[in-house]
Amino acid sequence: MYNSAKLTKKIHNLKNYKKTTFYSKKRVTVKTSKNKKAYYMYVANKSNKIKGYVYSKYLKPYQPGKTTVVKTPSTSGSGSSTNTPTKPTEPTVISKSDLESLIAASPDLDPTGQLLSLTSEDYQTYASVFDKNFNVGDYAHKGVFNNDQASIYVESQQLVPYVQKAIDKWNSALGTTAFTLGTRENHSMVLGFGDGQIAGWDGVFYGSGIAVDYTSFHDHTYPYGRLPVSNEPITITLTSDDDSTGVGDGVAAHAASGYHYDADVHYVTTTITGVPADLLETYWVGVITHELGHSLGLDHTPYFQDIMAAQSGTENGQSQENMKYDWTDYKDANGTQGGTMTAKLTQRDIDRAKLTKLLGYW
Ligand SMILES: [Zn+2]
Repeated sequence: MYNSAKLTKKIHNLKNYKKTTFYSKKRVTVKTSKNKKAYYMYVANKSNKIKGYVYSKYLKPYQPGKTTVVKTPSTSGSGSSTNTPTKPTEPTVISKSDLESLIAASPDLDPTGQLLSLTSEDYQTYASVFDKNFNVGDYAHKGVFNNDQASIYVESQQLVPYVQKAIDKWNSALGTTAFTLGTRENHSMVLGFGDGQIAGWDGVFYGSGIAVDYTSFHDHTYPYGRLPVSNEPITITLTSDDDSTGVGDGVAAHAASGYHYDADVHYVTTTITGVPADLLETYWVGVITHELGHSLGLDHTPYFQDIMAAQSGTENGQSQENMKYDWTDYKDANGTQGGTMTAKLTQRDIDRAKLTKLLGYW
């Protein structure tokens, strides 16, 4: 089954729907490569969740006489039996195989299309399936999000402009006000400095708030080394195995010292260009944006370009709570940019946050 009459993208395998009744919406004529005509039907199943274009010859007309009637078990001694046929009830929830097929048709760890337009019953029923397949979970403590919004009290004035930029990134990407700045008197979440030196984090989300490592934040040789005091743009090249920079593991909240690197694994090499002061600002905005992502219910991904990237699915021997598969290095090609270095949200970051909203995690 294709997503459009252009027949470029397959979205379902009909082998999985041998017994599904599809309803025909329209027929389209497609010119094949040999300049012949072929008919394709645009069809949808009853719940309208599995839909697309199918070669007409792959479909058989519906034959009511051949449907199998599943008998409902009758309680013994329940009086007279009637000949009234039991009407099959249409399930209000998507079937697990339909859901799995939608997940298989979506890019890795990126919920797209119909996965973001199911019913609230679907999300409730299959929350754990979504958690596992998209590395998400209900991580914020109760009361952090009220009416889909968290209000953040920033304890240090120095951090306010960084937090504001991180908030703006999520709010504009999601098209809604997920985060606001709160006050000491009125807030649902706290953000301030903490000490991540021993544990090895630059930033950490702990359920009801976020901490940024005080020492690294004030160390201007971190994470890029000694930078020239200049308003001229510079270019820095980094490799993901470069522990000493601290940027190596892509994101902040991970113990740089905790990793063992094998010589035969693939490392991502990346470059970043900008005025030194801007590079440092962007890095810390990226750290905070990443931690806000955790509050929205996002675990890590193995994609360096994502704000939620992490080099490994396991840190300090502990695997993250929800994980489609484990990984020990980034999947991106060399030259990919992103993560906390650019502080940009990818479509995958945004789609996952839309999913966690539908799952009721924020
Ligand atoms: Zn993290």
